[in-house]
Amino acid sequence: MMEKEHHSRRAFLKGTFSSGMLLFAGGLLAAGCGGGKKETKEEDVASCQDYSKLGSEDIAARKKLGYTDTSPDPEKFCKLCNLYKPAKEGAKCGGCLLFKGPVEAEGSCTYWAPQT
Ligand code: SF4
Repeated sequence: MMEKEHHSRRAFLKGTFSSGMLLFAGGLLAAGCGGGKKETKEEDVASCQDYSKLGSEDIAARKKLGYTDTSPDPEKFCKLCNLYKPAKEGAKCGGCLLFKGPVEAEGSCTYWAPQT
């Protein structure tokens, strides 16, 4: 009786250890195959006019603020705006503090604010 109990405990521990190792190995495999989430950054965008990674609310926010890729006013560019986030090193597009997505340095919107 005692030996049978001892044997079943050993089988339980062996089974638990094996399952744990399988889960651990599976996690490593998934991470190695790109199973982890990848953040979408502005520098990943191929074009500053590519809004394919934005949701409809983000696109609506851009329209609501009157954003245009090319400023109609020769003195009001995004790159001269206080709310502009300059492109990071190696990145093509900047950003704006008011909405998500890529912003052209030569763009503009109705909320343009002079740099202080
Ligand atoms: S507030 Fe308007 S003008 Fe200023 S950076 Fe944002 S989009 Fe460009």
